[in-house]
Amino acid sequence: MSTFTPRATRVADLFDPNAETPGRDRRGRLGPPKAPRPRPELGRAAAVIAAAGLVAVIVLGIATETSSELSLPGGGTTFIGSITGLAGTYLALIMVLVIARIPVLERIIGQDGMMKVHKWLSPWPLSLIFAHAVFITVGYAQAAHSGTWAEIGKLIDNYPDVLAATVALALMVAIGVASIRAIRERMRRETWWVLHLYMYLALALSFAHALALGPAFVGHPLTRIVWSLIWAATAGTVLVYRVGMPVLRSLRYRLEVVEVSEEAPGVASIVVSGHHLERLAFSGGQFFAWRFLTPGLWWQAHPYSLSALPRPPYLRLTVKAVGDHSAALAKLTPGTKVAVEGPYGAVTSHVKRRQKVAIVAGGIGVTATRCLLEDLGRDTNPVVILRASSPEQLVLRDEVAELVRRRKGTLYEMIGSRTDTPRMGRELRRLVPDLARRDLYVFGPPGLVEDVVEAGRVLGVPDGSLHREVFSW
Ligand SMILES: Cc1cc2nc3c(=O)[nH]c(=O)nc-3n(C[C@H](O)[C@H](O)[C@H](O)COP(=O)(O)OP(=O)(O)OC[C@H]3O[C@@H](n4cnc5c(N)ncnc54)[C@H](O)[C@@H]3O)c2cc1C
Repeated sequence: MSTFTPRATRVADLFDPNAETPGRDRRGRLGPPKAPRPRPELGRAAAVIAAAGLVAVIVLGIATETSSELSLPGGGTTFIGSITGLAGTYLALIMVLVIARIPVLERIIGQDGMMKVHKWLSPWPLSLIFAHAVFITVGYAQAAHSGTWAEIGKLIDNYPDVLAATVALALMVAIGVASIRAIRERMRRETWWVLHLYMYLALALSFAHALALGPAFVGHPLTRIVWSLIWAATAGTVLVYRVGMPVLRSLRYRLEVVEVSEEAPGVASIVVSGHHLERLAFSGGQFFAWRFLTPGLWWQAHPYSLSALPRPPYLRLTVKAVGDHSAALAKLTPGTKVAVEGPYGAVTSHVKRRQKVAIVAGGIGVTATRCLLEDLGRDTNPVVILRASSPEQLVLRDEVAELVRRRKGTLYEMIGSRTDTPRMGRELRRLVPDLARRDLYVFGPPGLVEDVVEAGRVLGVPDGSLHREVFSW
């Protein structure tokens, strides 16, 4: 039996573009407030502080080593082990902070950008921590004139917290191996995610052995305090932004599904209502991680953009069924409670540098496009290209057309599979001859986003005016 609400009675009709908010500012004087402007200087400052911290940690390792210890048998090897351990652990904490969803950083490069930084960093902590374990074992074996294998047993049996640290290393190696692309692609996304959570456990298990044995900490109360504070600050940041804020926001907004309606075969709009949404700071183009609190779905949060600016007390998302989670949303029943994380996303009107824009929406990328359009001024003359595999998959088309018309823009539709339709570069050149003087936004699947970004570059759009949100990580 269909759970869709009949069209005539839809709350979703409140999202009619004719009812669009006339204009908005940060304080919400003219409607729900916009998300704050990104502050790139804060991102640069964070990068400088992180790099300075790494240098300080290495200097600390060198400064706390004495020349007499270095000249002992195994002294040099153990010294390298200490430095690699300090540097690797510090970088592991930075990796955790990068994905802690810190709002000022999220607003600058977006969640996908933070994930890229996280991925880019990831080989370093793991290799350094592994090197630390090898060098320390070999160094201790040289000092004791024993074999390396025998030394492993001695370290685990006789030294405080080394057993926990060894378990931590095994967990880190397992996570590192699971992250190798060929292996990761064979795993369910959820399995990989749960496995990744063990990194927090691994870090916690490794903490104590460094304080008990590290030359930088034994007999150095000040460095012990500073190191412990760095760890506590990292754990606090993760708890605040990944747990506390989402829980508080969800309790504050008390969201629940009020309506589910079909937009096209396999595509449904879900309207949720909540409290205090007039104070929710949100910019068109952003998304939330949604957790629908039903028995089968509560344990997974998936990213979906809003497909219109908030109309307090309502929010709307529009979802295309591509797998288990997205398909289940069409069957949600009114009253289902919803928890959210966010809003996230840096691809908003804030990043626009030129007056005019062009937007390409691939498939369900139309959701963010529709919402961004509402946030763009009447003088932006947007050229919007909607790309869909068939005419019925052109969801929200009429709403987009109305918003484009109000901004004196032009709407084009490209229907057909990627191989059936003309190349993106040729189409952009033909449909948007002044593209080099516009900001170019693109939302959608990875292949389309890559094509559009590549074409935009070739047609002279500078990198700072190319804004992309890939609808999959
Ligand atoms: C920033 C952003 C905004 C999005 N907005 C919308 C939207 O407005 N409407 C819409 O229909 N879809 C949107 N998506 C895509 C949507 O998140 C995925 O289609 C959905 O998560 C698929 O989950 P599944 O279990 O149904 O399918 P699966 O079979 O599990 O996944 C299908 C594909 O979706 C991607 N995916 C799965 N889970 C996630 C996840 N947690 N995070 C990122 N990607 C994932 C993977 O690349 C996977 O290959 C958006 C994605 C992102 C990253």
